[in-house]
Amino acid sequence: MTLKPRLLLLLPPFVSLLAFPVSAQNGIRGFTPASAAHQHQLEKKFQAIPSPADERRQHRIFTAEPHLAGSQRNNELAQYIAGEWRKQGLEDVVIHRYDVYATEPKTASLEMIAPVAYRASLREEPYAADPDTKNPRVSSAWSGMSISGEVNAPIVYAHSGNPEDYDLLRKQGIDVKGKIVLVRYSNPYSYRGFKALTAEREGAAAILIYSDPAEDGYKKGRVFPDGPWGPESHIQRGAITYDFMVPGDPLTPGWASVPGAKRIPIEQAVSAPKIMALPLSYKDAKPLIENLGGPLAPADWQGGLPIEYHLGGERARVHLKIEMDNSIKPYYVVEGRIRGSELPDEWVILGNHRDAWVFGGVDPSSGTASMMELTRALGQLKKQGLRPRRTVIVCSWDGEEVGLTGSTEWGEQFAGELRKKAVAYLNVDEATSGSDFDGSAVASLAPMLVETSRTLQDPSGKSLYDAWKEAAAVDRKVNKDDRPVTDDNLADTRIGSGSDHTVFLNFVGMPVIGLQFNGPYGVYHSMYDDFYWMNHFGDPGYRYHTLMSQLWGVLALRLANADLLPFDFAAYADNIRQFVAELSKGKDMSRLDLKPVQDGIDEFEVGGKKLDEALQKALASGKLDPKLATEINAGMMQVERNWLNPEGIPGRPWFKHILYGARFTYAHLELPGLTEAVEKQDWPTARQQAEILRGDLIKNTKLVSDLSSRLDVK
Ligand SMILES: [Zn+2]
Repeated sequence: MTLKPRLLLLLPPFVSLLAFPVSAQNGIRGFTPASAAHQHQLEKKFQAIPSPADERRQHRIFTAEPHLAGSQRNNELAQYIAGEWRKQGLEDVVIHRYDVYATEPKTASLEMIAPVAYRASLREEPYAADPDTKNPRVSSAWSGMSISGEVNAPIVYAHSGNPEDYDLLRKQGIDVKGKIVLVRYSNPYSYRGFKALTAEREGAAAILIYSDPAEDGYKKGRVFPDGPWGPESHIQRGAITYDFMVPGDPLTPGWASVPGAKRIPIEQAVSAPKIMALPLSYKDAKPLIENLGGPLAPADWQGGLPIEYHLGGERARVHLKIEMDNSIKPYYVVEGRIRGSELPDEWVILGNHRDAWVFGGVDPSSGTASMMELTRALGQLKKQGLRPRRTVIVCSWDGEEVGLTGSTEWGEQFAGELRKKAVAYLNVDEATSGSDFDGSAVASLAPMLVETSRTLQDPSGKSLYDAWKEAAAVDRKVNKDDRPVTDDNLADTRIGSGSDHTVFLNFVGMPVIGLQFNGPYGVYHSMYDDFYWMNHFGDPGYRYHTLMSQLWGVLALRLANADLLPFDFAAYADNIRQFVAELSKGKDMSRLDLKPVQDGIDEFEVGGKKLDEALQKALASGKLDPKLATEINAGMMQVERNWLNPEGIPGRPWFKHILYGARFTYAHLELPGLTEAVEKQDWPTARQQAEILRGDLIKNTKLVSDLSSRLDVK
């Protein structure tokens, strides 16, 4: 999935005529001068391999047919990837099978029975310009993990479907119990599963979620097939799984769904919704909205349709029937690797999901095409005898769209080994819907991500670094974020959920990086997110796909080849300090003493700076004892694991990271246990969570101090 709540603007076309300057400083974080020189050569060779023509060829293969999680086509694509990887030279290529609680539609119908008769088409219309839109295998409207059922009830417009929207309805005397709520996707954006859970808690019989043209349709610009925005019949499919409680197979929370695994009954599965849900196009929503009746909706609830939005409640009645096939099915994860030449038991892991709601032009097949070109390049280097020092593992996940399912099951299956061996996880979901780069990283890896962006060239002619800074400045202006763009805050270090990094960060305790190019994109999860869309709007020349393969690969090769891993723990400390400041902002904190935590952060920062100096000195000397380097690297890998609380955050034991979490809306949530306790003014829990944070800060300060003294002794 991955749809960030942000406004998207096109940057003015600006092409620098200056030649791209070769990286000002030739050093690379984590490399001795000699290794850096070698690495630059290697990166040059690597970057020369991915080509726009091959990106496009791969993209066509993945977008030729709908490839829903668990479908025959998606399973064929798993075989295709495995076959390609073997040809490309990847090693130990395996397909893992997970038997998971899956979801598929059987039938759905929606009819308005009063005050006028209307039968929703629940289908997207074909366009002659794009033959793929005539594919008979495209599904009609459905929501993953909806329950089956039939209901005949009045309809209520509940705006965005957030708790405060129901408060407003209550004030207007409108009760939604037993009724069908109609909500819109955005304004502001929140994950549709949270809308479903909120409707379920409010006692609604069903939820209809529609795309309002104000958010992704004609109010934004030209619509498909003449522009990138959603036409009137586009349907945003999507799952409503409560994976913010626990991701992956709802029946195996915390362990892997390998064939024969123990399962809990569906009634006990907290992430399985207990409400009917259906998405609607604005074409199908309009007759309903027109006939809602009841009080006029507030000004900020009005949408982009040329009609008055009312709250409904009595006048309009609909008959909704949904039949689902929710049952256990196999999902397949493809895994391949290039074994490391020197440190095969240190792993750099890359992943992208394969499953799509329909053709998946942007989501995820742009990422899949970039991955295939990246693996081709890695394979070619290997054939030339250029293996990475550490092992690089690449995975094609299944069922991301259902509940981050494939990556979660794989992460749960190998959690023990990953905690020993994994250096980092680099996720690409949607590689490109445009030209604006958006890079995110846990704070310790943000500096190396920014540094790496300097060595890549954006299709505009600028360095990726400069293009990124410009895109970030525009993005911040639009989002009224008045921080100036600096190297320290260029990468987004606030990481929520909504894609396959979740298990690695929040369950395994691995540092993660996420990469994406954004642009105007109004066809998310609809059939129009396809090959035609990409070739006309998203990335017509496949240059951003190519850049993604290059960037993703160069990052992987830096992590795989570094003499000393390029973590920056002083930067981490500074970010934690910001997290704590934001948590306290505007709140009465008199009942919670955060001084010990703040002191702990200061000490961790001092320790991080000392380690950084010791690392720089050791690298500059050019002489590193390999055994010592391995020990130092193992210690640095342990820092992220130390942020895990085995108990998890209060109420959500699966989410174990104490610095990073996500709200039910998928929005990022820093210091999740502490923040939620403060927001609830639950001071005993807040004090306990602060104590845990303080303890982990002390543990990591000790660890990094010990590492610097070991480097100094040498
Ligand atoms: Zn996706």
